[in-house]
Amino acid sequence: MKEHISDIYCGQLHIDRRVYGFCEEILAGLRERFENIDETAEYNQMKVVSAMQKNRVAEMHMKGSSGYGYNDDGRDTLERVYADIFKTESALVRPQITCGTHALNVALSANLRPGDELLSPAGKPYDTMDEIIGLRPSKGSLAEFGINYRQVDLLPDGSFDYELIQKAINSHTKLATIQRSKGYAQRPTLSVAKIGELISFIKKIKPDVICMVDNCYGEFVELHEPSEAGADMVVGSLIKNPGGGLAPCGGYIAGREEYIEQAAYRLSSPGLGKEVGATLGVNQSFYQGLFLAPTVVAGALKGAVFAANIYEKLGFRVIPNGTEPRYDIIQAVELGTPEALCAFCRGIQAAAPVDSFVTPEPWAMPGYDSDVIMAAGAFVQGSSIELSADGPMKPPYSVFFQGGLTWYHAKFGIMMSLQKLYEEGLVKL
Ligand SMILES: *Cc1c(COP(=O)(O)O)cnc(C)c1O
Repeated sequence: MKEHISDIYCGQLHIDRRVYGFCEEILAGLRERFENIDETAEYNQMKVVSAMQKNRVAEMHMKGSSGYGYNDDGRDTLERVYADIFKTESALVRPQITCGTHALNVALSANLRPGDELLSPAGKPYDTMDEIIGLRPSKGSLAEFGINYRQVDLLPDGSFDYELIQKAINSHTKLATIQRSKGYAQRPTLSVAKIGELISFIKKIKPDVICMVDNCYGEFVELHEPSEAGADMVVGSLIKNPGGGLAPCGGYIAGREEYIEQAAYRLSSPGLGKEVGATLGVNQSFYQGLFLAPTVVAGALKGAVFAANIYEKLGFRVIPNGTEPRYDIIQAVELGTPEALCAFCRGIQAAAPVDSFVTPEPWAMPGYDSDVIMAAGAFVQGSSIELSADGPMKPPYSVFFQGGLTWYHAKFGIMMSLQKLYEEGLVKL
């Protein structure tokens, strides 16, 4: 059997025997890690099935509505399933939420009013939040509506600056936004336990602060979600973890009834709220993707751990490192040179099921201060639960990569990245 597997990698798929051997050796040391990842996936899979059964998900729910989308039982039941999985009172799960940024904007702008203050107690949030908040002047930002913003940076060791957070909370503080994943920043990803500590600290000072967690890339990585640790809202994208690779678009907001209601009135219109919103044909892929999500996330996590260990062994700085616990699916590798960054991305691209024949090139992107190289050969445009990688063309030439709909594909992508580095003499094995 092993022979057949190595033959297909090294024959048909052009992986060098040395690259293959090196990767297999690393893999042999990861068995226990992988078992833990599988156990988390098993627990989360049962959580999903159980929520579907409890809500009596039925064949008719797979059908969609058109027009106004009144009485879309499939949509409404799915929202109850999400609420059960996240242990919240309510949820909004819609194809009309175009992406994670949109979901965050809806959650924030729905629950803040002029004169309110938004607090980020864990440092600067994800780049696309800049224009929502109005950190850079932008049309329609919260700043334009008279909503202030205050930020408390993390301490140099990545922990919360409780002293400054306490000082920052005032009579106007209405909502705290907490980002679980490091995203593409250099800070550590926050565990659910850490988020829970932060929320109880904030609530002790001012119990009515709405605590919202940007849950992107974190869903199903741990046994519990931030909403079980005190978060009033959790927000994410369906073309990341919870869509399981099958959702073609969409986003979700789960949380307390009153905040979700506000979000629904903002997403559609005052007076309409959750009652409208045709699902067209997406219900089935939303359900099926959610069903698969725990195992898809497990595959992506194994890929991240595998890559961390391979590149760490080769002497590169990897974040998180090879042995650290994981709280999201993103892996960063500091490749050190533009050549290595490009080679890595070419490898990921060459391993893709779609567009494997194209060559990624660095390019100027809106919102970035340097060229960026991106590799993605995805079934769903921009889906980052599918194997994908990108990096800004500036020191330390870090690549951020994530996803993989199956562990085997993530494995192949990482092997192919190493193959490209090896071919170009950028690593020695
Ligand atoms: C991806 C991401 C977002 C934004 O999601 P988009 O779907 O790209 O708009 C926000 N926050 C974090 C932490 C993310 O990873």
